[in-house]
Amino acid sequence: MSISQIFENISHLLQIQSGPSHRSRNYQRAAYIIRDLTDESGDEIPYLQDLTETDRLEQVRGIGESTATKIVEIIQTGTCQLYEDLKSEIGERVLDLLRVRGIGIKTASQLYQSAEIKSLADLRSAIDTGKLKEIRGLGVKTLKSIDSSLAYLESVQNLKPLGDIKPLADGLMDLLQTCSAIERVEVTGEYRRGKDMLGRLDLLVVGNAEAVQQTLTDHIEIEIITEEVVTVTVDRFPVHIYCTDHSTFAWDWLQTTGSLRHIEQLGLTQSSYRTEADIYDSVDLPYIAPELRRSTRRSDPIKAAKISPNLVTITDILADLHMHTNWSDGLNTVQEMVNGAKDLGYHYLAITDHSRSSVIANGLSAERLKAQIDVVKVIASETEGLTVLTGSEVDILKDGRLDFVDDLLAELDVVIASVHSGFGMSQVQMTKRIIRAVENPFTMMVGHPTGRLLGSRPGYAVDLSAVIDAAADHGVALEINASPYRLDLESDAVMEAKSKGVMLSVNTDAHAVSNLNQMPLGITIARRGWLESANLINTLSLDDFRRWKNRCQKL
Ligand SMILES: [Zn+2]
Ligand SMILES: [Zn+2]
Repeated sequence: MSISQIFENISHLLQIQSGPSHRSRNYQRAAYIIRDLTDESGDEIPYLQDLTETDRLEQVRGIGESTATKIVEIIQTGTCQLYEDLKSEIGERVLDLLRVRGIGIKTASQLYQSAEIKSLADLRSAIDTGKLKEIRGLGVKTLKSIDSSLAYLESVQNLKPLGDIKPLADGLMDLLQTCSAIERVEVTGEYRRGKDMLGRLDLLVVGNAEAVQQTLTDHIEIEIITEEVVTVTVDRFPVHIYCTDHSTFAWDWLQTTGSLRHIEQLGLTQSSYRTEADIYDSVDLPYIAPELRRSTRRSDPIKAAKISPNLVTITDILADLHMHTNWSDGLNTVQEMVNGAKDLGYHYLAITDHSRSSVIANGLSAERLKAQIDVVKVIASETEGLTVLTGSEVDILKDGRLDFVDDLLAELDVVIASVHSGFGMSQVQMTKRIIRAVENPFTMMVGHPTGRLLGSRPGYAVDLSAVIDAAADHGVALEINASPYRLDLESDAVMEAKSKGVMLSVNTDAHAVSNLNQMPLGITIARRGWLESANLINTLSLDDFRRWKNRCQKL
């Protein structure tokens, strides 16, 4: 845990224990200050260490003697006494309350002080026994929001977003490949099928269990649970490592990838095959990509493979149409984002910062947007081999109007309409709001259409089928937002959009150059939703994209 995070937790714990105070505010401020004291890699410790060693720490504005002492203590021990004391007095789980929509620090403090609610489990029982209703000051709307948000958190309690597991999977694969007794390492299971929330990571290796265990224990901290299938936890996340040999590799890979129903559906009898393609061939089927092997009410793998024999791949992507710069809440300049996209070999990209109503995200006023358009055009004229488009991620206002007037929208190459506020509105209102935005002739795409944040917030209430119908009627595209925190739309909705003839666009919504690399995550979702290159707008050549835009905006 980072030092700033520890300070923030201390501040929260102090406030939950006894309300806001001078002391709690000091720790909050220290957390903000430390967050800014990072070196270029974003790592705070080396810089703080340097400040400490040269006795400059206390000269930083806002860091007093006691804060400085604690920083040194955390650098040395990974934590500090005050934090440990508060955790044992109040319980660490109390901070989970802050993840519930409708519970801010004030409410958390009230829940703790008046009803001894110290964890999500306590909160659940307070709801079930009616105790929560008796707490003063919690309105009906807040109670409802707390209830639904808690239900969501419970449903994902032991799950982690796909994007969070990727570094773990990549790291373990690299590590296992260093062992000479291990000849091959592949991901398998739900991770290989591209499920968006995972309860476990599965790997398949050619090698024996002892070699796997030895390699792991030599290099990282793990807890070994069973040994036959090597079952370990890394950073408290369960990992299964299946061991096999070359002769049964293809068979085991298919079996461990699943889904179970799909394997049953194939009706195979065990024998040895060289590749998975051979296995499918033996039952007269084409190779079925792992992302299609989920069996749900909507998705049948065999049907999927017949309808979409050529799933989209990362090499089909010619553009990234949604990204932010330091004009709004992004980290990098327009030029840096352009360079980043160029490095990825794209043919075109769009700069789409936030609009004025997204105040927290430093959204652009009409004047600033006009100024940015000029800047982007200059950079575009100086850039070779990549076309730079102007754009905006325009807020959909509560009544469904867009945040800029038509004359300004008409000047932009790319107009994405997104909801960033008023998440609590009823499903009827929200659906009307988004459909009105879809009907706006300038809207080309709806950004992150459900507003979900994986693992922390379900989407807003919306009749997605109605939105998809409207998008079909008006030729508007829907986004597959590839941010690891969103993956929005999810794959079933993607399937529905495709079946209704709606175009989609996989965008990174990058807020830094490094985020431009998130495209593959979005492609996984697109593939799980049966998409081929022809279903996406950012696989079009620039000329075709412009033609599509003109049709979409009826120009
Ligand atoms: Zn957005
Ligand atoms: Zn965005």
